[in-house]
Amino acid sequence: MFRLDDITRSNIKTLVAYSSARDEFNGEASIFLDANENSLGSVLNGYHRYPDPLQKQVKQAVAGLKGVDTAQVFLGNGSDECIDLVYRCFAEPGLDNAIICPPTYGMYEVGAAINGVEVKKVPLSAAFEPDAEAILAACNENTKLIWICSPNNPTGNLVKNETIEKLLSRFRGIVVVDEAYIDFSGEGGSLELLTKYPNLVVLQTFSKAWGLAGLRLGMAFASPGIVRVMNKVKPPYNINEVTQELALQAIAAEAEVRRRVEAIVAERKRLEEALLNIAVVQRVFPSEANFLLVKFDCSTALYNYLLERGIVVRDRSNQPGCGSCLRITVGTESENQALIKAITAFSNRKA
Ligand SMILES: *Cc1c(COP(=O)(O)O)cnc(C)c1O
Repeated sequence: MFRLDDITRSNIKTLVAYSSARDEFNGEASIFLDANENSLGSVLNGYHRYPDPLQKQVKQAVAGLKGVDTAQVFLGNGSDECIDLVYRCFAEPGLDNAIICPPTYGMYEVGAAINGVEVKKVPLSAAFEPDAEAILAACNENTKLIWICSPNNPTGNLVKNETIEKLLSRFRGIVVVDEAYIDFSGEGGSLELLTKYPNLVVLQTFSKAWGLAGLRLGMAFASPGIVRVMNKVKPPYNINEVTQELALQAIAAEAEVRRRVEAIVAERKRLEEALLNIAVVQRVFPSEANFLLVKFDCSTALYNYLLERGIVVRDRSNQPGCGSCLRITVGTESENQALIKAITAFSNRKA
C-alpha cells in the first residue's frame, strides 16, 4: 500500500515552507508596502510586483483544460524543475534509488546524479516497451521512483496503459509518467488514472505541442498530497509573471494550438513516407510524438553531412538499442523538404 508519509523524505516532512509576503497577504489593498518591491515601478511599465506564488489563475485554466482538480496541478519552471523536485521531495540522497528504462530522456539520470540518488537501469525491450515484471523485480525497499516516458523520447512509442497500471498497483513508491509528447499521440494518456492511484505523477509541458519551449512552463499532475509536498519545496516564485500571463493567453487560444498539432502530425506522416523511399534509410520507428527515430546506413557520416548543410538533427546512435539512429524533429513542410533532399543526395552520393 502506498502511503505518502512513508516515501516523503523526513527533512521535507518537517520542513516549514518559506512564507512569502504574497503568501501572508494576497487580498485587496491599495498600498502595498510589504514585499520591498520598487514602489516607483519599472522602466518596463510593469512587472514590479512579485507574481502569485501558487499561480492560481493559470492552474485553474490548466485544470479546466485537462479535466482535473486545481489541487492536482503543480507548475514548474519547465518539466525539468518538476523532475528535480520529485527527487528532492521523495528520494533520500545516498540511500534511495530510482528506476529508469533506457533508451529514454536523459534528465531522469542527471536529476538522480544531482540529488545523490542511485539509478537502476531496466532496459526497454527490442520493441522499446518497458517490462513491468523486470522493473518490479529490480525494486528494493529503497526504490522510491519509477520513471516512464510515454511517448518515449527518443523512441517515439507510447507505453501501454496495462504496463503503467501494473506498476502503479504493485509498486509502493511513486510512478512518474512523463507525457511531454502526449498531445501528438492519438491517446488520452494517464491523467484518467489520477483518481485511482495516489502514487501517480504525470508530467506534461508547454514546450512541445504548445510551442512555448522558451517560456519554461511544465505541469505535474498528482494527488493533492503530493502537490502539497512539491509546493513546500519549490522556490516561492518559480513561475514568473510574464510566463503566467502568456500561459493564460496561450490556453485561451487552445483551438489554434490543436490545429497546429494536427498539422505536425500530418507532416510527421509525410516525412516518414518520404524517408522510407531513400536507400540509406533502414528503418523508421513508429512515432506518436513530434519526431522520428530513424535507423540509417552510416548514421555518423550522414549526421556530419547534414551539419555541413546547416541541418542539425540529434545523434542517438550511442543510446542502447538505437545503434545507427538519428532523432529528427518534424519541421515545417519546407524544412522537411530540405532535409529529404539532403538525405537523398547523401544516399545517391554513396551509391
Ligand atoms: C522535451 C521534454 C520535456 C520538456 O521539458 P521542459 O523542461 O518542460 O522543456 C520533458 N520530458 C521529455 C521526455 C522531453 O523530451
